Amino acid sequence: HLPNFVADKHSTGGVGDKVSIILGPLMASAGLAIPMISGRSLGHTGGTLDKLESIPGYCTDLSLRHFRQIVEEVGISMIGQTNEICPADKKMYALRDATSTIHSIPLIVSSIMSKKIAEGIQGLVIDLKVGTGAFMHGLEANELAEKLKMAGEYFGVSTNIIFTNMDQPLGEYAGLWCEINECIQALQGKGPDDLMDVTYTLGNSLLLQSKIAEDEEEAKNIQQQHLSDGSAYKKFVEMVKAHGGDPSFIENPDMYEKPRYVAELTANHDGYIVSMDTFQIGLNVNDLTILCHHGKRNKDNSGGIRFLKKIGEQVKNGQVIATCFGNEKSRVNRIKSKLTKTIKIGETPPPPLVLF
Ligand code: URA
Repeated sequence: HLPNFVADKHSTGGVGDKVSIILGPLMASAGLAIPMISGRSLGHTGGTLDKLESIPGYCTDLSLRHFRQIVEEVGISMIGQTNEICPADKKMYALRDATSTIHSIPLIVSSIMSKKIAEGIQGLVIDLKVGTGAFMHGLEANELAEKLKMAGEYFGVSTNIIFTNMDQPLGEYAGLWCEINECIQALQGKGPDDLMDVTYTLGNSLLLQSKIAEDEEEAKNIQQQHLSDGSAYKKFVEMVKAHGGDPSFIENPDMYEKPRYVAELTANHDGYIVSMDTFQIGLNVNDLTILCHHGKRNKDNSGGIRFLKKIGEQVKNGQVIATCFGNEKSRVNRIKSKLTKTIKIGETPPPPLVLF
């Protein structure tokens, strides 16, 4: 019933993939209505809901009436599956980790598309991740793309699929609050290039679908303008407030409790970063942040990893290439030693990484 173009974005899952939290408010500030239902971390991938819940007070479990009201009044709401909206996905999602069915194409398609179709959207862009930190590789990724598009179009949702590279974490941070902090910087126009390139490309797709922009150049200009004039950032603050979140942590991220322990990962010889095992890195990020004790899920919101050097960058012996942090000393130290095996340093620079 809204006059705006109602649309959404979804990712098939990655590491450091915080694009939804930037793109949602950015699209809402450009005039789209975004009713976004996201998921928690699954396998080695991070979860938008877990990240949002690191904002003090932010509630992801709203009634359908309240979700609808925030979309109408603010232009964007970001929630999880609830007992009213996609209750089946809520249960099946939690079971997939335990039943080793994370990679099942039919389950991925139904999980993503049930949430998206329930939102009542007209347009959708899907970020289909490929590479060492993605669920899908090669031909499987093509099959997944085809089935996602087929399901979307069957339900009358214009669906664009964009393949993006996940051979290394996206942006500089992977974790919970540290990713929200990176989103705040990005919404203030200070996001890292790879993160912003993916954001703009997905945003172009939605702005073209909605006919707000006529071509990609105009679409990118609109996005850059909404970042530089502060309107996308303001939209994010409005959404956080509407969800019961405390905006003072967004306005002053330094107020957030710092992780108690930080461990540095250093290069053991001169060279170039040639590869990152992003699947293993993702498992380690989840081990730092989602603490499972006797089947109960607790979170360390302060936990995460910062990647100071990425693929292709030159490093010197002893230079810090990553830091990992959190509130449990033994966990931080254990993960730091596991991480050393995930980042390879070679003698010569690797071929340039292609993002799209
Ligand atoms: N995102 C989802 O919502 N479901 C999946 O299965 C994978 C990514």
